[in-house]
Amino acid sequence: MAATAPKETRSTCPYCGVGCGVIIESQGSQITGVRGDPEHPANFGRLCSKGSTLALSASAPVTLHQRLRQPVLDGQAVGWDQAVGAAADRLAAITSADGPDAIGLYLSGQLLTEDYYVFNKLAKGLLGTNNVDTNSRLCMSSAVAGYKATLGADAPPCSYEDLDHAGTVFIAGSNMAWAHPVLFRRLEDAKRAKPEQKWIVVDPRRTETAESADLHLQILPGTDVALFHGLLHLMLWEGLTDATYIAAHTTGFNALRDRVRNFHPKEVARLCGITETDLVQAARWFGQGPTLSLYCQGLNQSHAGTAKNAALINLHLATAHIGKPGAGPFSLTGQPNAMGGREVGGLANLLSAHRDMGNAQHRAEVAALWGVPQVPSTPGKTAVEMFEAAADGQIKALWIVCTNPAQSLPHQATVRRALERAEFVIVQEAFAHTETTPYADLLLPASSWGEKEGTVTNSERRISRVRSAVPAPGQARHDWDIAVAVARRLEQHLRPGQPTLFPYVDAQAVWNEHRQSTAGRDLDITGLDWNKLDTLGPQQWPMPAGAAKGKGRLYADGRYPTADGRAVFFDAPYVPVAEPRDARFPFSLNTGRLRDQWHGMSRTGTVGRLFGHAPEPAVELHPQDMARLKLADGDLVRLRSRRGSLVLAARRSQAVAPAQAFVAMHWGDQFLGGSGTGEAGDAPMRGVNSLTMDRFCPQSKQPELKHAAVTIEAAALPWRFLAAAWVPEMQVAEVRRQLQALMPRFGFASLVPFSAPRRGMQDPKPGRRDHDRTTPGIENSEGLLFRAAAEADKASGAPAAAVIEAMHAVEEALSLLSSDPTLLRYADPARGQRRTLRLLRDEAGDVRLQAFALAGDAAAERWVQALLQRAEPVQTLATQLLRPGAAPTTPRAPRTQVCNCFDVDEASITACLSQATGNDAQRLAHLQTTLKCGTQCGSCLPSLRRLALVNHALA
Ligand code: SF4
Repeated sequence: MAATAPKETRSTCPYCGVGCGVIIESQGSQITGVRGDPEHPANFGRLCSKGSTLALSASAPVTLHQRLRQPVLDGQAVGWDQAVGAAADRLAAITSADGPDAIGLYLSGQLLTEDYYVFNKLAKGLLGTNNVDTNSRLCMSSAVAGYKATLGADAPPCSYEDLDHAGTVFIAGSNMAWAHPVLFRRLEDAKRAKPEQKWIVVDPRRTETAESADLHLQILPGTDVALFHGLLHLMLWEGLTDATYIAAHTTGFNALRDRVRNFHPKEVARLCGITETDLVQAARWFGQGPTLSLYCQGLNQSHAGTAKNAALINLHLATAHIGKPGAGPFSLTGQPNAMGGREVGGLANLLSAHRDMGNAQHRAEVAALWGVPQVPSTPGKTAVEMFEAAADGQIKALWIVCTNPAQSLPHQATVRRALERAEFVIVQEAFAHTETTPYADLLLPASSWGEKEGTVTNSERRISRVRSAVPAPGQARHDWDIAVAVARRLEQHLRPGQPTLFPYVDAQAVWNEHRQSTAGRDLDITGLDWNKLDTLGPQQWPMPAGAAKGKGRLYADGRYPTADGRAVFFDAPYVPVAEPRDARFPFSLNTGRLRDQWHGMSRTGTVGRLFGHAPEPAVELHPQDMARLKLADGDLVRLRSRRGSLVLAARRSQAVAPAQAFVAMHWGDQFLGGSGTGEAGDAPMRGVNSLTMDRFCPQSKQPELKHAAVTIEAAALPWRFLAAAWVPEMQVAEVRRQLQALMPRFGFASLVPFSAPRRGMQDPKPGRRDHDRTTPGIENSEGLLFRAAAEADKASGAPAAAVIEAMHAVEEALSLLSSDPTLLRYADPARGQRRTLRLLRDEAGDVRLQAFALAGDAAAERWVQALLQRAEPVQTLATQLLRPGAAPTTPRAPRTQVCNCFDVDEASITACLSQATGNDAQRLAHLQTTLKCGTQCGSCLPSLRRLALVNHALA
């Protein structure tokens, strides 16, 4: 009988703000594949490595074992009626005893617009508190404040189409090659079509984006405002500003001009750590234009975030590079729906449809729309303030929705204190195990990507539909629907006998109310409905009644949404980073994204394949610093800031400048942990944000996640332990839980998944899982790698007995302590040396390594780990595998994956390039033809170009 054709559903990728359209393939209730939607105007069919592996994060094992499937109250599974009743009763009791401001709602830029709308109404319209904020505060609030302070509205003026028309592209504080990959592909296309287009990249790191630039301004951390003022100084000097535009369409220029007079190129170059020549070149290219600025967290996540954004927008106003094709300041949205959340007023200082809480008329309009007497006028607590207030006991109840503050907020010591001290914590989540879920009194299971209905808005103001392909698992419900259920129960306490404020029957009904609220506002979408979104496709706002389509470019007429119709120059001083490095804390710590991971990894962390590119947590250091600290790659170091400490493996990187350090933002204590050395005063290690600081921008309240002063020293944890195993995929989640519980018992521990090799694929479909489960002996398995270190007795080299006990528990979890005759063992207990191996003979007679544990002597870890991960036959290596000090004559190293789609590693690429001829483009084409790398999602293309270039230079 012929198999049923998969159902296809058009939807939107749930990761970054590019907002790519996807087509979800499903069979029954199972998502089976995903591909880019060729008709979506954001991506025209392309997806990056994260988007193209979405189906793997919705596989049956993940859905069964890693999703939250039913409500849990005080540790007991309960039904929805009890869960909703408990939520409403506790929130009503706290409101009655301590007032509505004792409740805080912390939401997410990954919620849909409809979810946001209901939560915002619940907090501000029903409970009567403005304490509703979101993780967008960590992402885009400085961009918003920058737009409002200069252009008068939270409205990015550009479109993706502008990439094609720009003469100069000025990329500031964004590694868009990794963070917004599909947009970067579009930019590469633009440059290919228009080779004279100049790219300037401003970044303290030499990222893959910076490597692709015509000019990289590798500034010192936090000096962006000085740079932008210096550029304006030069542009004024060289006559590159537009006096007519300034006079006709702006105010406040004279004060700014007087300020930037003092930003002499020589001094600016010194402050920023760049050359004067590069500064002059950047000013000329920017001034000539048309210039399109693309910027993201490097500007936003700063205690001067608003000033950085506004100082860049000043350059566009002064040169009139705005409101024209290929020109304008264009903030790249981090999260998929940070903009949609702001549209409905889902922040502590906003109201629906871009209304301001401080404006009495706006408050009255919203109260009338909602049918309530009033909405509160005092701004609520923003993300950092909300958790500080909970830690201080002012906020008694936290309702956390679709976000993971115990991983993502800075200064984790305060966050954890808040979660412990709050009397009632609701965590509404799709995934059962995040850093935050253990703190919940009430866990509410939510639907997720592939299951939800609604809308999202991407970086270019484009509203796209999110559609349900499969039902939510277990008892999980949509976020807006959970909010409505709790709200209706709360109404019985707070407004008994009155008609409900939440009459919605579906997501579309919520959206229709939102649409009505936008009438006459800058984001007016009264000309749009869900039917038009189906027939016309995704549309940009505004689209008022009567408009045939959305508006692509704003401010073309030079009129701005300010009181006098003029844009405003923002006159801000340059202030250095909040916590400058000094003799005690001599390194600048920067945090940022990996290519294949997303935020706290609740979703991407379920997919072993996404760990191929950056397999384990590490801190990147410049080679000079590695040498000065006498460190080799992989040595453990302790990073310490004024707020906490963290142990990580050091990795040499030319991308990081001397006296700087980089740690990916993703690593929380699901993946990285340990108790430290047990030194007095050491807090438990809580992921990278135990180090970062909570000082925030006075205007945007966005914290300075991009810079903290730290000290780095070799970690005194000489005893090492490494264990890895192939685990049947239906058991992986449970084994991970067991191993995670053991991590605090070591001085340092990390735990990561990895995937099976995908070799010999004739017809690889990167978004599907059926092509990587065929290696004999490890079919339908996922790898787990557990690494640990501890203090050791100086004489014997052995760790404490408690550590040995924890090590045995790890081995047991990985089936390395059983009486299985396939286990091989060597042990020298006096010296803490131990080696255990589990082997399996497959049907063809080949013996493969299934699991191993090495303790004490870690010299063999690289080649033993490589043998397991490569799943290669090992029958000729039995002696070397067991005997400490022995090694194969040609030991293999763990693979460094470059192309995720086709699982191509660096060694294969280098070997292939050695056979290639011609120029760099021809060598790249040879690679793509031979190995297929870089031909699917394209996320690895910058790496491939660099390898082709390096290889060519060496040839
Ligand atoms: Fe998703 Fe990648 Fe597109 Fe971002 S660029 S929306 S992560 S597919």
